[in-house]
Amino acid sequence: MKILISCDMEGISGVVAWEQTEPGSGEYERCQALMTGDVNAAIRGAFDGGADEVLVADGHSYGRNLLLEELDPRVCLNVGVDKPLAIVEGIQDEVAAVIFIGYHSRIGTRNGLLCHTWSGATADLQLNEVPVGEIGLSAGVCGHFDAPVIMISADDTACAEARDLLGQLETVAVKRALGRQSAECLPLETARGMIYEAAVRAVIRLKAGNPPAPYRPKTPVRISLRFMRPGKVGLAELIPGTKVRDGRRIEYTARDMLDTFKVFRAYDILANSE
Ligand SMILES: [Zn+2]
Repeated sequence: MKILISCDMEGISGVVAWEQTEPGSGEYERCQALMTGDVNAAIRGAFDGGADEVLVADGHSYGRNLLLEELDPRVCLNVGVDKPLAIVEGIQDEVAAVIFIGYHSRIGTRNGLLCHTWSGATADLQLNEVPVGEIGLSAGVCGHFDAPVIMISADDTACAEARDLLGQLETVAVKRALGRQSAECLPLETARGMIYEAAVRAVIRLKAGNPPAPYRPKTPVRISLRFMRPGKVGLAELIPGTKVRDGRRIEYTARDMLDTFKVFRAYDILANSE
């Protein structure tokens, strides 16, 4: 039984500000260690719950955040910026279930700590009229490969978003959001202990045949995307099949969640060009 641990940085224990998550900034290295600590707790839990194999995908920014030299030596790590499936790279290779560590809520979430959707070019994203962010996008790709998301660690707003969208997965709120860049953080050992315990429970539930269902939006998937800035719809139209709804909103019908993930990322790259 192989478990994929998909990692972001904004929802890591102790992280509350954008600059903490930016390579090159003063506190970034400290946050790399915090991130590695949360992920190690999940790895230990997954193995103690009964996983045979654990693969880790580093998905924040350039995908080079986790400290390999401090990571649990039983796991392989997907590193780097242009992994084909980004934050869920590895899901295509017989993964039984997925654990999200350090995730965050979607753009527009009230009090969502560091909430955003991908690069920040997106003001609103809906799949089949359901608002989603990175939790929904990543979980949908996992669902495309029949893998449920069995656990998340994040701030409380992202945990609530995951429960609403994905059902009864294990959730660990390592911090209570007070605003977009402030939170009440649990003591580190407490947070890591909770991550460990939740990972054990999640994998035991999986082995008992009682995980949450994989997240599978109905296909074809109707994507509705509003850009943060006007003037981007013209670039988005470079992708054939794009329908422009107004000065900032486009729509696209994707065959499945894998294509949804790919085309959304293409729109995001285009929105950041020029
Ligand atoms: Zn991130």
